[in-house]
Amino acid sequence: MSDTFDYDLFTIGGGSGGVRASRVSANLGARVAVAESGRFGGTCVNVGCIPKKLFSYAAHVRDELKDAADFGWDIPEPAFDWKRLLANKDREIDRLNGVYERILVNAGVTIFRGKASLKGGHEVEINGKTVTARHILVATGSWPQKPAIPGAELAITSNEAFHLDKLPQRALVVGGGYIAVEFASIFHGLGVDTTLAYRGTRLLRGFDADLGTRLAEEMARKGVSVLLQKNPSKIEQGLKVTFDDGASGQFDLVMFATGRVPNTAKLGLEAAGVKLGADGAIAVDNYSKSSVDSIHAIGDVTNRMNLTPVATSEGMALAKTLFGGAPTPVDHDNVPTAVFAHPNLATVGLPEHRARERYGKVDIYKASFRSLKHSMGTREEKIFMKLVVDAASQKVVGAHMIGPEAGEIIQGIAIAVKLGATKAQFDATIGIHPTAAEEFVTMREKAPEL
Ligand SMILES: Cc1cc2nc3c(=O)[nH]c(=O)nc-3n(C[C@H](O)[C@H](O)[C@H](O)COP(=O)(O)OP(=O)(O)OC[C@H]3O[C@@H](n4cnc5c(N)ncnc54)[C@H](O)[C@@H]3O)c2cc1C
Repeated sequence: MSDTFDYDLFTIGGGSGGVRASRVSANLGARVAVAESGRFGGTCVNVGCIPKKLFSYAAHVRDELKDAADFGWDIPEPAFDWKRLLANKDREIDRLNGVYERILVNAGVTIFRGKASLKGGHEVEINGKTVTARHILVATGSWPQKPAIPGAELAITSNEAFHLDKLPQRALVVGGGYIAVEFASIFHGLGVDTTLAYRGTRLLRGFDADLGTRLAEEMARKGVSVLLQKNPSKIEQGLKVTFDDGASGQFDLVMFATGRVPNTAKLGLEAAGVKLGADGAIAVDNYSKSSVDSIHAIGDVTNRMNLTPVATSEGMALAKTLFGGAPTPVDHDNVPTAVFAHPNLATVGLPEHRARERYGKVDIYKASFRSLKHSMGTREEKIFMKLVVDAASQKVVGAHMIGPEAGEIIQGIAIAVKLGATKAQFDATIGIHPTAAEEFVTMREKAPEL
């Protein structure tokens, strides 16, 4: 490659997408540099997927302790130490920060620490210095957004929730997306009196409607106070929250999980000629190329599908496109995803309403049952599974689940859905008994047409 530029690739942002794109590009022979203003690993490692799932494990222990009694174990009244959980979590995150940095160093990537911005199609400014690159990759992620209501500054976002000095007694989580339901479940599981308030009529907009409705029921059954069509209009000192219907409540912590915005401000994008979409995200083509040929973007900053494995796939595809001699578009179809609420839920393919729009006639199969694990106890929790089948081709185009380890189960089902398996092929698969997952291959009765 030519030496006209300092680097073949300069990546801004050392998170999920940026690290993958940089490492793979370097392995393909490119001279790569990456700038990171915070900690390596980005949102997912530091204030996202990883610490969130660790907290979720901690919160699940509460249910497991209850189950223990049904299995004959007498366990003295347990005590929970938030500070110990935080310290253990921080140690693991520190370890992962090191792993991410080493991955880059071992691949021969040059590391710049600091905030980078664009100076043109091939120039990046970092720490007062201009560096040139044949290609620039913007992988700066996204940032939580608070609504513009009086007192919003008194509330926290998920960023701060990972570093609370102490757990509140009463928490209000505002929002209806996956981060909101996950944190409401975490707080509740850790013993906090938790309220979840969402302005919409159903949690998890965009997911299959049954999932949002049933999750709200399950969370409420566990003891979370789920308030729909309820939105805070004002927060006062002392955390008195007034809602738009005039009702009010007193809390010790208010957390907004009300959406995230792409990190595109103050990056010099407009000056470099990079077009943004209406949502402020960098507009890219299927190969993650922006409106400027030499500038590319992946991950949350493009607001396509804001998940870590999607960001890393986009990074991998870009590296192959730019330096592997193999132009590789990113396939965003049938991406499975999990929500680590309590209970967990996971999904792949189309929700029923979207399948109806796309295919017209669909067959629906549903199962709702109590798990064997809970059959001897008092827990009312129900597992829910649903298959959405295109009536004409009989292909399974959507699989949805609420229940323990839903993500682990749907990950396997996702391969079948991605390969275009038919309902008959699901049925021809012999189940593993006794498991919950076997229900996915034994659903015989179509749900009646509405
Ligand atoms: C609470 C929470 C839970 C989540 N849980 C999950 C989950 O369970 N599963 C899942 O798949 N996804 C989850 N996500 C989403 C996932 O974290 C993101 O989709 C993913 O991190 C996006 O990767 P990215 O590379 O686009 O950006 P990021 O990982 O956010 O990385 C961007 C990096 O760029 C750096 N940066 C920004 N601006 C500059 C600059 N000017 N110069 C230098 N560096 C800069 C930032 O410091 C950051 O390190 C979660 C997110 C949140 C907030």
